[in-house]
Amino acid sequence: MNLTNLIALFIFIFGTIIGSFLNVLIYRIPLKLDFVKGHSFCPHCHHGLSALDLFPVFSFLFLKGKCRYCGEKISWRYPLIELLTGILFALSYLRFGNTWMSLIGMALAADLVVLSMIDIDTMEFDDGFSIFIVILAILAFVIHPSNLMFVLLGMFVISIPMYILAVLTGGFGGADIKLMGAAGLLLGFPNIIVAFFVGVICGGIQAVFLLKKGKDKKTMMPFGPHLAIGIFIAFLAAQPILDWYLSFFIS
Ligand SMILES: [Zn+2]
Repeated sequence: MNLTNLIALFIFIFGTIIGSFLNVLIYRIPLKLDFVKGHSFCPHCHHGLSALDLFPVFSFLFLKGKCRYCGEKISWRYPLIELLTGILFALSYLRFGNTWMSLIGMALAADLVVLSMIDIDTMEFDDGFSIFIVILAILAFVIHPSNLMFVLLGMFVISIPMYILAVLTGGFGGADIKLMGAAGLLLGFPNIIVAFFVGVICGGIQAVFLLKKGKDKKTMMPFGPHLAIGIFIAFLAAQPILDWYLSFFIS
């Protein structure tokens, strides 16, 4: 195993630990509970959890997916979010190496994971998640000054058409539009367009599944997670995706 892969492995493990903290945020933010103070507890029996219960992924496997105190099943979501966060952190490192952009990618991943899960649970997410991305965008701009025109264009090129579409058809929520405005500031033009199209394709796939399952068109489908997938994929690989897409037209 070379050094890069070894560091990526450590970052993966670090990501699973952060993921276990993200689980706490996902549970507590919608309930407006303090997420800094207070011990973690079983949502069923409210028994406080010890460090042994909180070890990412392994505790879940060791406890066979049940609370040690009341035997209630622990949702598979907890270890899955820990694994997902670990994978996203490692991907960010593998893409950007020993740079500040690696860290920005990890912070972005954490933000997107939490907002996605809260959107799935409650059908809404706070503007704070988009403000966080604006802060990351400012940091990224300070680290890697890019063409300010393309940054500002990135902010509006998707969010304004989404806003018009929302006014005309009610397709998107305000939070989705602000998310894409913030992400546009981070990704810039034309990468934000890649994010949007990946998100729409993901959303389209889910919509097809929902329709197949006999759900009618009125069934609410949170769009935040799809946009989040698009944003992260574009953050890592907008350029190769654009090159691949354009290769169909230039031959
Ligand atoms: Zn319990």
